[in-house]
Amino acid sequence: MLKNFLIFSKIVILCVLIFKPVFSKTATGTIDFQTWLEKFKLEAISRNISKSTILRTFEGVKPIARVIELDRHQSEFILSLGKYLSRSVTKSRITQGRKLLKKNTTLLNRIAAKYKVQPRFLVSFWGLETNFGSYTGVFPVVSALVTLAHDRRRPKFFRKQLFALLELIEEGHIDHKVKGSWAGAMGNHQFIPTTYRDFANDFDGDGKVDLWGSKPDTFASAANYLNKVGWDQNRNWGRQVSLPNNFSYQLTGLNIQKKLSDWSKLGVVRADGSKLPLADITASLILPAGYKGPAFLVYKNFRKILIWNRSIFYALAVGILADKIDGRKGLETIALPAIPNYSISRKQIMTMQRKLTLKGFNTHGIDGKLGPKTRQAIRSFQKELNLPQDGFPTISLLQYLKKN
Ligand code: CA
Repeated sequence: MLKNFLIFSKIVILCVLIFKPVFSKTATGTIDFQTWLEKFKLEAISRNISKSTILRTFEGVKPIARVIELDRHQSEFILSLGKYLSRSVTKSRITQGRKLLKKNTTLLNRIAAKYKVQPRFLVSFWGLETNFGSYTGVFPVVSALVTLAHDRRRPKFFRKQLFALLELIEEGHIDHKVKGSWAGAMGNHQFIPTTYRDFANDFDGDGKVDLWGSKPDTFASAANYLNKVGWDQNRNWGRQVSLPNNFSYQLTGLNIQKKLSDWSKLGVVRADGSKLPLADITASLILPAGYKGPAFLVYKNFRKILIWNRSIFYALAVGILADKIDGRKGLETIALPAIPNYSISRKQIMTMQRKLTLKGFNTHGIDGKLGPKTRQAIRSFQKELNLPQDGFPTISLLQYLKKN
């Protein structure tokens, strides 16, 4: 009965394909949704996804306008580091993180022994991604991914995600009605489907990888991911430091790496003024809020956090929250209000990029984003003006560019 029904539905699918003009386009230049979906289903069949999974998963699925809206939306202002940290590393998050670290010690230690990631980081990522599982997303993931895979902006990436999700549904790890973020991130640590498929782990051994209800699966999956990208359990992420008055800011940025002993020779000390550790560690010096803000030496693990999420602010928040959850000292000295707290808008960054490029300091695009190339262009311009070369876009620099 079911088999007949499936054959029938395949014929229906084929008929739809034959009788609908495949290349009919909508105003936005994409193939209309139903045609696209039927084609996608056929490809899923050719990839050995069972027809029952396909039918169940795509029954009544429609694009979600809100998802496109969120995908197009860019917040107008880039948050300052001060605002970002005070929103993400909150007192209540630190307190709750400490409680959860303690409560799950035995499990976390077992996972740390196997995957070689310190427990404080697993809890910190959990806190930042979903506030320890209290917000794992409300969007139906299948519909969200279908929307984005059909959309013209990043179809290749989201098709890949949708196929990975189908595999996970087929294997019984995930229900087809699964909820997550508007971009398809799921569970306690917000894994996108390809990450879920490739790195998630059934640590409690019940045959199903459950990144919502199973703490063993949740922590082991995050740990496995970090392990696979090259995490070093014997090292921290970095530390806050103090710079001497005559420090040459052109040595800052992730492109430059030096041994701790070399940073020491340049006069870099711990935030409390004491000498840097003697350990054989390679580090970069970053000034995420400009030379007037705090300075950090960041190690290899910091770059691993950037693989998880490309934002430097995010990576700092993970490190600082992990330290604070663990009751470590050093970063207690960051007085958040002391961090320069103004925000700059994307429009202002674009103006800056345009002006810099006109002056011969190529930012390689005018996109309103503060990437390494824009920072480098700012640095070169600062050098010409004999200003501290921290690559940080201040309003006064923008005003100067506008006038001159
Ligand atoms: Ca499991």
